[in-house]
Amino acid sequence: MQKQNTKYIFVLGGVMSGIGKGVATSSIGKIIQANGYKVTVMKIDPYVNVDAGTMNPTEHGEVFVMESGLETDQDMGNYERFLDITLPPENYMTTGSVYRTVIERERNLEYKGKCVQIIPHVTNEVINKIKEAGRKTKADVVIIEIGGTTGDYENQLFTEAARQMNLRCPGDTLFVMLSFIPYPKKIGEMKTKPTQQAVRLLNSAGVQPDIIIARSERKIDDKRKEKIALFCNVEPEAVISAPDVESIYDVPLNFEKDGFGKVILKKLGLKNGAKTDFNGWGKFVKKVHQAKKKIKIGVVGKYFNTGDCVLSDSYISVIEAIKHASYNNDVVPEIDWIDAEMFEKDKRNIEMLKQYDGIIVPGGFGSRGIEGIISAIKYARENKTPYLGLCYGMQLMVIEFARNVVGLKNAHTTEIKPRAKYKIIDLMEKQKANLRQGIYGATMRLGAYPCTIKAGTTAAKAYGKSKISERHRHRYEVNNKYIKKLEKAGLIFSGTSPNKKLMEIAELPKSKHPFMLGSQFHPEFTSSPLHPNSLFNEFVKSIKK
Ligand code: GLN
Repeated sequence: MQKQNTKYIFVLGGVMSGIGKGVATSSIGKIIQANGYKVTVMKIDPYVNVDAGTMNPTEHGEVFVMESGLETDQDMGNYERFLDITLPPENYMTTGSVYRTVIERERNLEYKGKCVQIIPHVTNEVINKIKEAGRKTKADVVIIEIGGTTGDYENQLFTEAARQMNLRCPGDTLFVMLSFIPYPKKIGEMKTKPTQQAVRLLNSAGVQPDIIIARSERKIDDKRKEKIALFCNVEPEAVISAPDVESIYDVPLNFEKDGFGKVILKKLGLKNGAKTDFNGWGKFVKKVHQAKKKIKIGVVGKYFNTGDCVLSDSYISVIEAIKHASYNNDVVPEIDWIDAEMFEKDKRNIEMLKQYDGIIVPGGFGSRGIEGIISAIKYARENKTPYLGLCYGMQLMVIEFARNVVGLKNAHTTEIKPRAKYKIIDLMEKQKANLRQGIYGATMRLGAYPCTIKAGTTAAKAYGKSKISERHRHRYEVNNKYIKKLEKAGLIFSGTSPNKKLMEIAELPKSKHPFMLGSQFHPEFTSSPLHPNSLFNEFVKSIKK
């Protein structure tokens, strides 16, 4: 049988942002994947930044680290989690990265004396990158989410490239617009006008959506569907209702209920082969809705003046990993954000940690709230509260141990105290040169590295194997000079780089603490609903006990 042409689906935003384009894109992927096709998903970020590594997470959301080490947008995490796949770096692009390639080509005389222009040279580069992602992943269907909203100055380049692709690959491209249907209470009716105008705006860029996903507070009725269909030039069945949901995991199943799978496959000219359970997804969603028993987890960090919604964007992979592990263990996680500075202001505040079944210290940078975090770690160790430290959370756990168990007073990380007497956490040699020269972008220790696990430890029990691979994003490391001292006092380095030079996991023995473990890597980046990360899983299990 002749292989089908690769299909390309562009997902664009209409009306406004923040209505769940990443989850909608992931869900489209999930549906097509459940029909037996190989799917890959790309994110286009219209920013001029070359990657997301230099962006502040409280402004832009979490920096998601790919296996390759590329620092990307949090949506890449959504794609990997929903589709349970690992994506290559080709699947992420920004305005900055595209221009960088074009400018490099120009400097190398690759345009042979031509005047290099946005159209066709930059748009060609965008198209090349999209096709390359399809080739690299051997996907039947490539889904491309264009960041921002239709009409944004920033994403016009990408909409234009999508328009040209539609001309070049007739029958193989599809446009999906995610729009918003407001429901003003005073009017008491769902209004479709903003969607009509967003489609017109898109039309003026030469693009006609084939499918419109209508996000709204509640399910949209047939009358509204017909109206959108008539005014926006789509068939009524191609208007998909996407009401607010209790859990994001419901979205693919809800889309399917509205006939999304059938519509999109028909439009792509692909056969329908849906597995009703979506390969186990339905079973997980059932667990999400059935779990009753609550566990309370306190995430301790440096947060100030940031609303809940900002934090949930900054730590989305951590939150998701907690949920995956919890629901798979039939418990409901309740997550609180605890500002560590309150433990610095008044030492007695530490007693508030009593209410938590488990404590997590996530990754981070800089000095704010650090002493408060160290107090919280001391509390978890002394009170035998299950503790999971992620990257910075591991480094600070080792510092707390050095100070209060080994007795190395004022032990510290050189990130905060370059002249500390006991430099327990220090810069790697290569990093010293980077910082001296001020080279910050993409120079941390990034991406997946192998790690060897010591037998008989909590880490070994969690992973059930001796060789693992996890993703990193840090500059500092446990200083090898102190390893003997730390080990002698009872700390176990249960995970190391294969050459044993880098300490990747630190833990206390079971005889001393039910679960006190920190990893230099970020286990949250490899967790998915169907495959919760092993460390989060073991952490939740220890809480359940
Ligand atoms: N700031 C620490 C380092 O650079 C930890 C980084 C992190 O938690 N991601 O090593």
